[in-house]
Amino acid sequence: MNQKFKATIKLLQKLPGVGPRQAARFVLALLEKDGSELNELGQAIINLKKDIRLCRECFNLSAAPEGRASPTEGGRENNLCHICSDPKRDQTKLVILEKVTDLDSIEKTGLYKGLYHVLGGAINPLDGATPETLRFRELEKRVANFSTNGGLELIIATNPTATGETTALYIRDLFKNKSGLIITRLGRGLASGSNLEYADEITLRNALEYRK
Ligand SMILES: [Zn+2]
Repeated sequence: MNQKFKATIKLLQKLPGVGPRQAARFVLALLEKDGSELNELGQAIINLKKDIRLCRECFNLSAAPEGRASPTEGGRENNLCHICSDPKRDQTKLVILEKVTDLDSIEKTGLYKGLYHVLGGAINPLDGATPETLRFRELEKRVANFSTNGGLELIIATNPTATGETTALYIRDLFKNKSGLIITRLGRGLASGSNLEYADEITLRNALEYRK
């Protein structure tokens, strides 16, 4: 087999959920594209980290800071996302979830008007994901900074999978002694082992409404 072909397959396989056969199909499909399309894709990938940043508060996606075309690593002055910069969002509710795609699923229901915190995954030591590598320190800092006058509700929305449940327990434990805090978990209807990202809107609606 062509070495470059093999190498490209290997690179694509580093993406979540992409096996060798699917990676090969991707490479073959890309070979069918014309040069300008491939160029556009290549440029988008090259500029990904420059053009798309993570919100400094919640780690949702945000736009790149204005006038900083070539950011240096470290000291990134990331913008707030459209949710954190919206004063109309309910500041007394904080949904904690694994990924930005989960956040999008909840936003699509239009039911939730509070804030978010994206952990960047679930605790899974086998995969190298520990409380230290996820954004727990940032979460603790945010919770500490919330004025608890109106009370704060932490809504745990990690996936109903083994790693998601481990993460949920960890969050409960982390904040168990903090006063003025209500901790709830997304509730009914979410099938065990499923993924929030793929839950339909009605299921998510119910899970949000009937949190426990
Ligand atoms: Zn944000």
